[in-house]
Amino acid sequence: MAQVQVATAASCIREGESDARAGAGLFFQEANQLNRSAKLPLFVNQSKKAGEAVAVKLAADTIDPKLSIHLKTSSKFIRSFIESPSKLEDEDFLGKPTGIILKSLLTSLRMRITPTLIKELKRNEKTHPEALAKAAISKTGASYINISQPPTLRVTGAKLSVMTQSLAYKMIKAQQAKKDGNKRIRTERNLERVKECVEDKFGYSPTYEAFWKAIRTKDFERKVRDFLWMITHDAYWTGTHWLRDSMKPELKERAICPLCGKIDDFRHILTECESPGQATIWKLAGSLWEMKKSTIPWAYLALGDILGSSLARITAPGTERVLVGESRLWKILIVESAYLIWTMRCERVIANEHAPFSEMEVENRWIRMMNERLEIDCQMTDGRYGKKALSKKLVMQTWKGTLKDEGTLPEDWTTKSGVLVGISRGQSREEVSGVG
Ligand SMILES: [Zn+2]
Repeated sequence: MAQVQVATAASCIREGESDARAGAGLFFQEANQLNRSAKLPLFVNQSKKAGEAVAVKLAADTIDPKLSIHLKTSSKFIRSFIESPSKLEDEDFLGKPTGIILKSLLTSLRMRITPTLIKELKRNEKTHPEALAKAAISKTGASYINISQPPTLRVTGAKLSVMTQSLAYKMIKAQQAKKDGNKRIRTERNLERVKECVEDKFGYSPTYEAFWKAIRTKDFERKVRDFLWMITHDAYWTGTHWLRDSMKPELKERAICPLCGKIDDFRHILTECESPGQATIWKLAGSLWEMKKSTIPWAYLALGDILGSSLARITAPGTERVLVGESRLWKILIVESAYLIWTMRCERVIANEHAPFSEMEVENRWIRMMNERLEIDCQMTDGRYGKKALSKKLVMQTWKGTLKDEGTLPEDWTTKSGVLVGISRGQSREEVSGVG
């Protein structure tokens, strides 16, 4: 497996005092443009431990997920954290000052598809990463570090692993009602959007409870369920959150998408931004949906449609009978596409410092993601998953009509390897001419 070596280090001045400042350094090779010197923003704890965590997180976010990271650090704390994060999870580290950044580091590492190897940084290898960490502290502005973080952790320090989303929702709702009326209004507004969109598309009116239940579906991975939950609560650091009075002017700039000049909120990110990403992904999703020949036509999706897609209820023409597979495809297609748009947007803004992706890269990423999703469905029909196994019939109904060379596949294609969705590279290329 291809590997990338990176050495990380941290530096902190006046640690433990109120004006402490910390920096993180990432060193790949001499003159490598990926070398980074990052000053920790003030919402992260200013300490050496936090700096070490930020350095590793930046490495995890920056390095191509196909390449295995070979990480070198002199921090015992980080080495033991990465080798056995559950230990710290059990010890309620989330409530500690470095909790936010560690949780976020864990998420970044878990998002990678290749393993991370960790080794001790030798004395003679320390110079470069340490110099980068030190240099960061004297920078004028802090670096942008995205710590997308369920808000319950910020305020309660409770263990997320034992907290169900509905419990978390209750807690946040209670807190919001007390402290932050504005935030509650944002959640309600999103729920109203969902309701209207579901009424429009599927002709029924869901309750809020039905929505919270629908996004907890086992059809999504935990990170995707959290993503929907976070957007609905407007809990990610996007858009107008950066305009709060307490924000410094250089942070307030982050409210605006530098390319489009508009408020960079989820509506913008998922449905409007002109940087190569969302438009191409929705076009590809639309091409796949059209193969399904559904009674629900593909059309522009509003934020409420995206959030509400888990509530899809597509019925057979002229009847009340719900087409379970077709409804399921709608949900998977839309939510997984939205999640990819968000992931790629974060890579672009944070790791790539706003350098746009090429259209081809966006296409490749979406196709790979859909094929992986299809493969997971196939694997989950295996009896060894017991109660958790998916029914073959459901999987076949979900993907029926959308597969590559479907006519030549055996009747039960779920056990055949290498079944792909019927969208391949270049399919939408001519329609996106002029870019890349
Ligand atoms: Zn934009």
